[in-house]
Amino acid sequence: MWETSVIVAVGDEVLTGEVLNTNGAWLGQALLAAGSRVTQQVLVPDDEAAIRDTLLSAWQTADLVVLVGGLGPTPDDRTRDGVAAALGVGMAVDPLLEARIRLRHGRHPGSEASIRRQSLVLDTATVLPNRVGTAPGQLLLRQDKAVALLPGPPWECRDVAEGFLREVERRTGRRIVRATWRCYGLTESEFAHHLGDLLTSGSFRAGVYVRPGVVELRLEASLGDDAAEAMELLSRAGAEARSRVPVPLYDDQVPIEPARLIDALARRGETVSLAESLTGGLLAAELTDVPGASAVVLDGQVVYTDEAKVRLGIDRHLLAEAGAVSEPVARALAELSRQRSGATWGLGLTGYAGPSGGTTSDPVGTYYCAVAGQNGTVVHRRRTRSGREVVRLAAAETARFLLARELVTGPNLDSEDDR
Ligand code: ATP
Repeated sequence: MWETSVIVAVGDEVLTGEVLNTNGAWLGQALLAAGSRVTQQVLVPDDEAAIRDTLLSAWQTADLVVLVGGLGPTPDDRTRDGVAAALGVGMAVDPLLEARIRLRHGRHPGSEASIRRQSLVLDTATVLPNRVGTAPGQLLLRQDKAVALLPGPPWECRDVAEGFLREVERRTGRRIVRATWRCYGLTESEFAHHLGDLLTSGSFRAGVYVRPGVVELRLEASLGDDAAEAMELLSRAGAEARSRVPVPLYDDQVPIEPARLIDALARRGETVSLAESLTGGLLAAELTDVPGASAVVLDGQVVYTDEAKVRLGIDRHLLAEAGAVSEPVARALAELSRQRSGATWGLGLTGYAGPSGGTTSDPVGTYYCAVAGQNGTVVHRRRTRSGREVVRLAAAETARFLLARELVTGPNLDSEDDR
C-alpha cells in the first residue's frame, strides 16, 4: 500500500519560480526512503479547481498524493478547499486546534478569521501536528488511497512530515536503502563506460549523476523481507564498481556534504580555517550555513587579489614566479591560513573561474585545492570545462572532499594532478 506517490507543490510563487520547490526535492527523497516511489511531481497555482483536478488525476496513477503549501490563513490559500471539492467532503473548525492556534497567535485585529481558517479540518481527516508553526497538516484515507496536506514553509513541512513519513514506512512495509559512490576525475560518460552492465543489473536501480566536481554512482535496493540481503547486494555492487573503475571510488563513509563534514570535525574536536581566492568565500558560506559551525570554522579569508595574498603572508616572489593560480600558492594559502588561525586544518583554493584568464598550461576552468594538516599538505589540481559558477562550486566540493578524505583515510600526502 502507498507504494507510489505524487507530490503536488501548491502556490503561485512556486509555479512562477520565485520560490524554489525545495520541499519537493526534500520530500521526493524522504518518501523514497520510506518506501514510496515518487512517480510524478506537479506544480499548481493557488487555485481550487486546479488543486481538485490535479488530486483526482494523480489518484489515477498513484496511491498517495502529497500536497504541499496553501494551508495558511489568507483567502489565496486554497488547498483545503481543493481537496474538499475533490473528495466531496466538508470541513469544520476543530475547537482544540482553534484554542491552540489562538494561544500561539495572540489576539490582534483580524486574527479571528485567520485563526478560524487555519483550524478548519476536513471531515474524516487526521490532524498532523505542527510544532514549529501554525497550520497543521492533514491526512485523509480513501479506501487504499490517501492524500496528505503539508504546510509550505520548509521547516514546517519537515516537522509535520515526520510522523506522516513513519506512517508511510509502516504502510509500505519496506524501506529503500541507497548507497552512493563518488568519483573525482572522470567524466560522466567515462564513468558510465567503465561501470558497463552494472548499470542495467535487474536486482537494483542504478544511475550515474553528475554534480560540479564529482560524478556519482547511486544504487537503490528495496529493504523488503530480507533487509540483510538488500544491504549485502549493494555492498557487493559497490565492490564490483570499484574493481571496474580505474580511479578511487569513495563511499558514504566520507563526510563530504557540509553538514556531515562539520559534524565529523566537531566530533573529533577539530577546527578548520580557509583562505579562498577563486571561491571568494563560497566554501566558508557553505560550511557556516550549518548550525553548530561556530565550534569548527575558526577563520575564513577572501584573498582575491595578489595584494590580499601577500597580506596573508604569501611570498611576493612565489606569486610572481609560480603565478596566483598554481600548486605552490594553493599550498601556501592552506598552510598560512592554518598557521595564522591555529586551526587543525587549513584549506586553500585558487583557480581560473573564467570567462577570461588562464594560461596555456592552466587554462580557464583549472583550479587547485589544498588541505594542510599536522602531517603535511595535499594539493589537487583539476579542471572543469563548464562555466564560472560550476568551476567555483566544483572547487568547493573538491576542497570538502580532500578534507573529508583526510578524516577517514588520512594522511594522504599525495599531490594529484588531473590534467
Ligand atoms: P503559511 O501558513 O505560512 O501561509 P502555507 O502552508 O499556506 O503556510 P504557503 O503560503 O503556500 O504555505 O507558503 C508559505 C511560504 O513557504 C512561501 O512563501 C515559501 O517561502 C514557502 N514555500 C511554499 N511552498 C514551497 C515549496 N514547495 N518549496 C519551498 N518553499 C515553499
